[in-house]
Amino acid sequence: MAKQTSGRSSTHKHKKQFGQNFLNNGRIIDQIVAAIRPQKNDHMVEIGPGEAALTRPLIDRVKTLDIIEIDNDLIAPLKIQFASKPAFNLHHTDALKFDYATLLSNSKNESEATQSLRIVGNLPYNISSPLMFHLLTYAECIQDMHFMLQKEVVDRITAQPGIKAYGRLSVMLQYACQTESLFTVGPENFTPPPKVDSAIVRLIPHASKPFVAENEKAFKDIVRQSFSQKRKTLRNNLKGWLSVEQIEQCGIDPSIRAETIPVEGFVKLANLHFQCNQPSP
Ligand code: SAM
Repeated sequence: MAKQTSGRSSTHKHKKQFGQNFLNNGRIIDQIVAAIRPQKNDHMVEIGPGEAALTRPLIDRVKTLDIIEIDNDLIAPLKIQFASKPAFNLHHTDALKFDYATLLSNSKNESEATQSLRIVGNLPYNISSPLMFHLLTYAECIQDMHFMLQKEVVDRITAQPGIKAYGRLSVMLQYACQTESLFTVGPENFTPPPKVDSAIVRLIPHASKPFVAENEKAFKDIVRQSFSQKRKTLRNNLKGWLSVEQIEQCGIDPSIRAETIPVEGFVKLANLHFQCNQPSP
């Protein structure tokens, strides 16, 4: 099938350090927008608008579109295109350091201040994991997230226990969100083309978590430690953190590897570790 171009030609010099692979296929852009399903009252945030391939079809469909872009060279063209649009708010800054809660607290009207954010973006692949971990710290402010990522990363996020791709990223994101892989996008749909396939993932923060860690830091630590050496058993990776008896007390066989343990298991391990390390009264 002939490719529909996104209708823009550009002289922008793509910057590798900012992960600039711009979408160039109108059909794929439409497919992404359809998956996002923008609504006229939405408060949306787009991370990394680039040359506005997604911004353009979103800006007139939502009430507010906050746009976060780091590259100085893209700021003036974005302002020229969108400054007159009522939804448009540009933040020339680093999305990794941005305080997303301020978008709600700085809202002009009260209904928007209580409304949660819808985050979207064709993310710069080099920062996608730290960015998602940063966004998870604002999970209570977020309705949902739709991201284009490397397909391999989407496979890891959505992997179930026992599958090779299941690891720390799967556990941490599935602990906080419902995760769904939507569709794959080939390299030819970007300029310049990346070396690998990409995919769209939908993340919906749990309104109430199915399994609750008593202490999130303890949970993070236990998950990191459990996967620290992928080929080692849980007993070995958790040496000094939990004894064999304590792992068994959580209903988990200490001789298995972390890659077969569901999120619930890590929550049990983390809660026991946390309780055992509380100072005695
Ligand atoms: N949305 C556009 C598209 O789909 O064609 C561009 C996507 S491109 C993969 C990633 C965009 O994120 C670029 O515009 C890049 O400059 C921007 N970017 C990279 N690192 C960033 C950061 N730390 N904070 C904000 N934007 C960033």
